[in-house]
Amino acid sequence: MSYLVLARKWRPQTFDQVVGQEHVTRTLQNAIQSGRIAHAFLFTGPRGVGKTTIARLLAKALNCEGGPTPQPCNSCSNCTEISASNSIDVLEIDGASHTGVDHVRDITEGVQYRPAKSRFRVVIIDEVHMLSNQAFNALLKTLEEPPDHVKFIFATTEVQKILATIVSRCQRYDFKRISLRDLLGQLSALAEHEGFACDEVGLSLIAREADGSLRDAESLLEQVVTWGDGQVNAQTVRQALGVADRQVLFQIVEAILANDPAAVLRIAGDLYEYGYDPRRLCRDLLEHFHHLVIIKVCADPAVLSDLPDHEVTAVQDQAATRSLEDIQRLFSLLLRAEEEINQTAYPQLAVEMSLVKLASQPPVMPIDEALAQLRALSEQLTTSSLEPARTPEPAPADPQESAPASTPAPKPYPPAPTPPVSPVPSPRPDTPPRPKRPTQPRHPTCSRFLTLRPAPATGTLGSVFWLRSKRTSCRCFLPSSRASCTISIRPC
Ligand SMILES: [Zn+2]
Repeated sequence: MSYLVLARKWRPQTFDQVVGQEHVTRTLQNAIQSGRIAHAFLFTGPRGVGKTTIARLLAKALNCEGGPTPQPCNSCSNCTEISASNSIDVLEIDGASHTGVDHVRDITEGVQYRPAKSRFRVVIIDEVHMLSNQAFNALLKTLEEPPDHVKFIFATTEVQKILATIVSRCQRYDFKRISLRDLLGQLSALAEHEGFACDEVGLSLIAREADGSLRDAESLLEQVVTWGDGQVNAQTVRQALGVADRQVLFQIVEAILANDPAAVLRIAGDLYEYGYDPRRLCRDLLEHFHHLVIIKVCADPAVLSDLPDHEVTAVQDQAATRSLEDIQRLFSLLLRAEEEINQTAYPQLAVEMSLVKLASQPPVMPIDEALAQLRALSEQLTTSSLEPARTPEPAPADPQESAPASTPAPKPYPPAPTPPVSPVPSPRPDTPPRPKRPTQPRHPTCSRFLTLRPAPATGTLGSVFWLRSKRTSCRCFLPSSRASCTISIRPC
């Protein structure tokens, strides 16, 4: 018997065996169960996620002798023929080699005849986006109103290239990339069943290389098994596929976060000697910093579903060493470097210089924290500058409660308040006497001379006092009322 590759050997034979596309399989099964089966389906999604597999499963579910059934038996003649791709009523063609209008015309004419032995004529066109516009247009009429015994299933990786008139006539199903955990689970089950000696690190590397495609993962596993004689571990995967150990990636990021350019250069040099593509290194680092930002923003480790548990813990530890702004800045620098690296003829040199630049970036302080510190510093300076000029506050004097004889007089400003009724000062012998100004009090803030007027209540001149409490303010004789103190005039 000829050898069957793992991807074909492990192709799902029931809807339950499909990995990572539950939203599609469940909908299709429910549609079959309830009899709401569309006449045209469009499966779109990345490569190797199960589009063709589910198209064949749908054909089996429709044509199974016990069906239509959501659980095809896989034992009747129709099921076995479809599994072997030799059913006369299931036409599976490649859109890339049937692009012309003549090919489509052959299809539309052929489906007018009833199926030979099955319930439906099923036409599966893979990579349907390769059809020409004329071919699509030739398909429109049949696709809109096909005979009752015809079902169309289209599969494509580039749905944007398909005419909107075609898409609107189909029931569209978007297939998802398969998560790393699902890939790991499937690879582990496969390896255990096949008797391969695998460890989790090796399988994680393969699953990551597969980039969401189960078919790629199975093909890579087979390649590694062949190279390593049944051994699948980090070393055999690195040597067979030429990928870097994830641990090395963590070491580089660790060195960048620790501001250690020498260590970064040493690790990058080792990777280059090993043959690791510098552009690939840059992309991996971008992905790693992206993970750091995600775990910084969302504390829930479940958001990093594409990473195994031990790597999630390591990412959390690294993210805790820097602020979010810091990691975002490193990501931006790396993103700009990646553009330059893709354009230069010396990618290794460009990568090394970029890594040195990253490792030389000092940690930045978050703007909120910096502003808070500046604010605290400003308050501290203000307080210290005001303290020497602080004067003891006089007790607030209420002109209605305090009498001049019984209440101690508040501290006057200027130091010796002089009653305006005796304005004549004692003249100094060496200076000419100034008649009125020296006896006039000054405002404590602006030092302007205060004009004393008779209090309106008594009609007599009073003493001038500086009162800080606005409660006790009586009259302010300043030109501007912005002064922080008030002037009170009391009758003598
Ligand atoms: Zn069957």
